[in-house]
Amino acid sequence: MLSPTIVWLRHDLRLADHPTLLAAVERGTGVLPVYIWSPEDAGRWAMGGASKWWLHHSLTQLDASLRKVGSRLIIRVGNASDALGQLIEETGADAVYWTRRYEPAHREIDTKIKEDLRQQGIEVESFPGSLLFEPWEVQTQTGGPYQVFTPFWRRCRSLSIAAPLDAPAELPAVARWPKSVSLASLNLLPTIPWDSSFAQFWSPGEAGATDSLDRFLQGAIGAYRELRDWPEQSGTSRLSPHLRFGEISPRQIWGRVVERFGTPPVDGTGKDDGPWTFLSEIGWRDFGYHILYHFPHTPLAPLRENFSNFPWETSPDLLKRWQQGTTGYPIVDAGMRELWTTGWMHNRVRMIVASFLTKHLRQSWQRGADWFWDTLVDADLASNTLGWQWAAGCGADAAPYFRIFNPMLQGAKFDPDGTYVKRWVPELARLNTRWIHAPWTAPQSALQAAGIRLGTTYPEPIVDHPTARAAALEAFATLRQ
Ligand code: FAD
Repeated sequence: MLSPTIVWLRHDLRLADHPTLLAAVERGTGVLPVYIWSPEDAGRWAMGGASKWWLHHSLTQLDASLRKVGSRLIIRVGNASDALGQLIEETGADAVYWTRRYEPAHREIDTKIKEDLRQQGIEVESFPGSLLFEPWEVQTQTGGPYQVFTPFWRRCRSLSIAAPLDAPAELPAVARWPKSVSLASLNLLPTIPWDSSFAQFWSPGEAGATDSLDRFLQGAIGAYRELRDWPEQSGTSRLSPHLRFGEISPRQIWGRVVERFGTPPVDGTGKDDGPWTFLSEIGWRDFGYHILYHFPHTPLAPLRENFSNFPWETSPDLLKRWQQGTTGYPIVDAGMRELWTTGWMHNRVRMIVASFLTKHLRQSWQRGADWFWDTLVDADLASNTLGWQWAAGCGADAAPYFRIFNPMLQGAKFDPDGTYVKRWVPELARLNTRWIHAPWTAPQSALQAAGIRLGTTYPEPIVDHPTARAAALEAFATLRQ
């Protein structure tokens, strides 16, 4: 009997467009799909609570899909090196294949495991599958990494993207399946059920990912450019957690969009169309990984070094009010409560709440990134770091620090009738739309009619906007000195 090939699954929890899985099938031996739960391997970036919820359900779906093609998922716990060594010993496997990861801690572990296993005579191969382009494939004319999105994406567009691969019809089984621990024993689901509403909003797994893409392609994609900034419209794809766990690949998304709308012109014409704008957002995801790969210090430190000494303030109380969505700024509070209830927040609102934390409250972007890390179902080291550094003004292609989002104007522009705020901040639901983004400016009679007592049923603003803005600009001025 030929020795089996271990396919070590990590952020690639799907069967379609899976180069690693297909290479294992082509090798012609039994294929052993394995997931290793090893939070300690990720160090500082061990999965947060919302991501663990997603992972639990995603692994359930993956096992079911594997069983349909004659296979199954073997789950192990502990550090990956030991777990793989154990499986090799138990099954006689002589090859380990995986899809590449790009987070600094993961790269270090993968490199070490590769070296160790090869020394033991085990064949180890790593494959692409999570990005449109590997981070080292896209280079400036001088051979360096990009730090600005537009030229990065222009360069990407001059490279070709292969068609996605079909899922294997069958996976060759191994002669004897090794033991798997139960999914329940990983304790991925919370003991206090704060996640009770998540299932209403999400269907983790490959089928859920395909459904989301289908729905988006049949509906909102045409008007994506106009609707994507409006939090109350279902104007975006909501594919981010599916992409995060590799339940769908960016290449599959690219392939489906191109199949339906044609290839976007390389010269950038038609760039204002919905499908093209959408594909460029998939490009932003690649850009985040490009930055993370080439600047691996950025999850903890600003890309722009001059921000290293920025005078952030530390106030556990302000941070908590932001986390709980009780800042008194309705659009901010709505976003933070949407996040808590659904594990996701609309991109426009992510930008508003991140600006508010880093500028109005002057809490460091790392505190915000930590909270997102724990509460987002799509928490992704590359995109989260990129987003937070963008908002704080210290990252790649970032919004300048002095551009401070005015939460009232942002609310009035992107949630003009207050539907989003009223949905997530129900205590304001009866307030006349005129004051919905600044309830403290409403006359007492209007507040009374809406059943609102400021400071009791809904908070007074946590900071005064003009004062906070001036203080942020003053702090910023210290950078230039
Ligand atoms: P769509 O608009 O449908 O876009 C399609 C896909 O493109 C997304 O699923 C995502 O994979 C990618 N994408 C879209 N916008 C961005 C972007 N700005 N940067 C990188 N990729 C993008 N995204 C995450 O996936 N994980 C995170 O942890 C994360 N943290 C963020 C933190 C902050 C402060 C900010 C401002 C943004 C963050 N984003 C993050 C990016 C963005 O908000 C989400 O990807 C997007 O809201 C997901 O919704 P969607 O799938 O409907 O997006």
